[in-house]
Amino acid sequence: MAKIIDGKAVAAQIKEELKERTAQLKEKGIEITLAVIQVGKDAASGVYVGNKKKACAYIGIRSLAYELEEGTTQEELLALIDELNGRKDVNGILVQLPLPAHIEEDKVISAICPEKDVDGFHPQSVGALCIGQAGFVSCTPAGIIQLLKRSGIEIAGKECVVIGRSNIVGKPMSLLMLRENATVTIAHSRTENLKEVAKRADILIVAIGRPKMITREYIKEGAVVIDVGIHRKEDHRLCGDVDYDDVMPVCGAITPVPGGVGPMTIAMLMNNCVESIRLQS
Ligand code: NAD
Repeated sequence: MAKIIDGKAVAAQIKEELKERTAQLKEKGIEITLAVIQVGKDAASGVYVGNKKKACAYIGIRSLAYELEEGTTQEELLALIDELNGRKDVNGILVQLPLPAHIEEDKVISAICPEKDVDGFHPQSVGALCIGQAGFVSCTPAGIIQLLKRSGIEIAGKECVVIGRSNIVGKPMSLLMLRENATVTIAHSRTENLKEVAKRADILIVAIGRPKMITREYIKEGAVVIDVGIHRKEDHRLCGDVDYDDVMPVCGAITPVPGGVGPMTIAMLMNNCVESIRLQS
């Protein structure tokens, strides 16, 4: 029977550790502040922002909420980021994506100063990850590394296949697995013979965005399967990019959806906020 990798439990453990670290910092008179900017009233973004604020409150991080009108111009948003970049009492700046169509996301991400880029999306943060320098790492891939390590799964020397090459998940994930000394293959929508490629993996990380696409034909017996996908089915229940019930009997370990990768993303955002103190000192 495959081991179920419990992301909820690992995320809770990380949050407890961070709570302790923020308390110790407070004793030294250091308070951490995260500025969260949301433009418009997208319902899903509202839920994500709410969850981030709740996590901050739990851990002991001060959060500043900027809820801007849908019609906010790019210049106004950039001016706010510029002001927050300059504020000594703000350690992290997060702009909730997606932004309304009239605002260029790339310009906004690049405007956040890299020392406060707790999402790890700034080109400098991505470059630093690529060449092994200090910097913030995108939260979902960083969370997956923690899930693997804290579940006792060895990475060094293993064959890892990452399916998906997005800037937020697939690419940084591949770089992190490389940093952990895995032998990494990146597969994507143009990969030929995906099943054979995926079957090489001791660790298969799936970030495709297609519900239940990965079935047992893609899995080497005993492989560790990490499912990044999140989809809401017609019956309102969540599922991933992996067909969990089909894959379960052949894999060695698997992350469920919900309760696998999802909870790790916010935990790692909180970790980046706490780490910002070190990067800024
Ligand atoms: P994306 O759409 O930006 O990228 C998808 C990638 O999958 C692309 O690189 C594409 O080449 C590849 N792909 C698409 N169809 C394919 C196919 N048929 N065969 C092989 N490769 C294919 O998506 P993303 O932002 O990387 O997100 C992926 C999934 O992860 C989504 O379901 C998203 O909701 C979820 N996600 C979850 C979290 C979390 O916290 N758990 C965070 C981010 C994204």
